[in-house]
Formats: sequence, structure tokens, C-alpha cells
Amino acid sequence: MHPLDLPFVRSAHDRAAHRRTDPRLVDDLLKDPATRLLLLDGDTVATAGSRVALLAPDDVAHLAVRTRLFLGEADGVAYLAAVLDGSGSAAGPDLGWTGLRTLDVPDLDQGLAVEAIALAQWHASHTHCPRCGTPTEVAQAGWVRVCPADGTHHFPRTDPAVIMAITDADDRLLLARGPQWATDRRSVLAGFVEPGESHEQAVVRETAEEVGVVVDPATVEYRGSQPWPLPASLMVGFRARATTTSLVRQEDEIAEADWFTRAELGAAIAEGRLSPPGRASIARALIEEWLGGPAGA
Ligand SMILES: [Zn+2]
Repeated sequence: MHPLDLPFVRSAHDRAAHRRTDPRLVDDLLKDPATRLLLLDGDTVATAGSRVALLAPDDVAHLAVRTRLFLGEADGVAYLAAVLDGSGSAAGPDLGWTGLRTLDVPDLDQGLAVEAIALAQWHASHTHCPRCGTPTEVAQAGWVRVCPADGTHHFPRTDPAVIMAITDADDRLLLARGPQWATDRRSVLAGFVEPGESHEQAVVRETAEEVGVVVDPATVEYRGSQPWPLPASLMVGFRARATTTSLVRQEDEIAEADWFTRAELGAAIAEGRLSPPGRASIARALIEEWLGGPAGA
């Protein structure tokens, strides 16, 4: 079976990790007029029309930049991200600012933007050494932070989370609603992998904790993964078969949970009684794989 086709795993550049150890890399690239920079401000990226704005060094020289990150190269062009300090409006009135959920751009732009946002999120929340508390310094073109007091190196983190389409013996799908969600929204279950645990064990444990359903570990099947870098998740998608159907909700995590046949879910969506997850989500892809077609218009 092919893995799922997922929106945030598109890219068209080479990260060229071997170049990161060159201490002059970023300075040299900023002197090269062929270099292109992507601008980040908070969790948004600068866009121009239907593309991510990819600007020449001279176009952004006037901006206050907090961190510069080397993203990689494609077709002989090197790409950097410039992380701004809330000063995006100074970049000019022609630019829009777009978050990941609504970013619909070519593969090259998509891959650069996801990498840049993920790396920038890590820098924003890992400013100090976890061993001694000293402020750390950016090294290796943005791919390491080094503690000047004890010399330790700290690398960007990714936190795995499992997301799972659980079906019962009649092939009904389990959908639930989080307490903070709109009353018509439903999705598949998800949760973070805990230390010392495999993905498969997390699928079984989270399902039991959230809705009291027992999953047969032998049926847990990997379907694909995609980054969700706000702040640092890698969503790892599975499907699995439950051996029980009685639902006992963990009330602070799950407001509603139900089993759906394909006909029931299709009708609920068509009649506007139920909203599926957004198109950019792996949850939507898992639901549509089970459904055998699009979940809504
Ligand atoms: Zn330290």
C-alpha cells in the first residue's frame, strides 16, 4: 500500500547540510545577488501573489533581522530565511503574510517555508542552554546553538505525535471532538509519543486513555507522516483496528466521540452537521482514505 499523499511533504530543494559547517556561509551568500531570502515574522511567511516571496539580499538589507538560517539550494540558487522581529510591515506594502494552514504555493516554496518555520520556532523557544541556563549562540548557519559557558551543542528538535484512524470490527470509524472545538467539528484521535515509547505503543495507549477503546497492537499500520512545525510536531499517521467499541471519554480531552459508518459520515458532512478537519491536515487524509473519497466539497 502506498503511503498517503500529504500536503506538507512536498519540496523541491536540497537541504545541502554539508554546507552548514562553513562558518562564512551565510555572510558569503548575502553578498551574492543570486541568493534568495524568505522572510518570516512570527508564524507567518512573506508572500507575493501565489508564491512565497523570494527576495534578493539587497531587497531586505534595510530590515532588522533576528536570525538568518540556511535552508538549502535548488537549481544552483541558495536559499536563506531571515527571521524578523515583528517588523514585517517594514518589508513593503506589496507583500502579504501567510500562515501555514492557508499556504497554497508550488512545491519549492512549500518545502522552504515549512523548513524555515520549523527551524525558526525552535530558535524562538530554545534561547538558553538546558544544562546551565546561559544564553546560547547560533552556529552552523542556524542548525546548532552552542553554549559559550560549557561548550555543549544543541540541535533542532522534532516531537513525534501519533494520529490514528481507528476502526471497529464493522469497519466503522472513530471520530471525536476536543473540548475547545466548534460543536460540529470531528477528527481522528491524536496524541504525543511519550519518552521510552514506540509509535505503535502510543497509538494503543492514547486510544485507551482518550476513549477507553482497546486496539489490537498487531493491526497498527503506518500510513505516512507530515511535519506540523507549530511548534515542533511530526504527525505520524496510522490506522488500526479496535477489539472493543464501548466509549469511555477522558472528559478533559474529549467532549464527544462516536463510531461512524461511511454512509453516516457522508450524510453528516453533506447536510452540514459535521465539519471534517482542514485540507492541509493528515487527519483529513486519514479520514478520506477510509471513506474512499473526498470528505465534503
Ligand atoms: Zn551551558
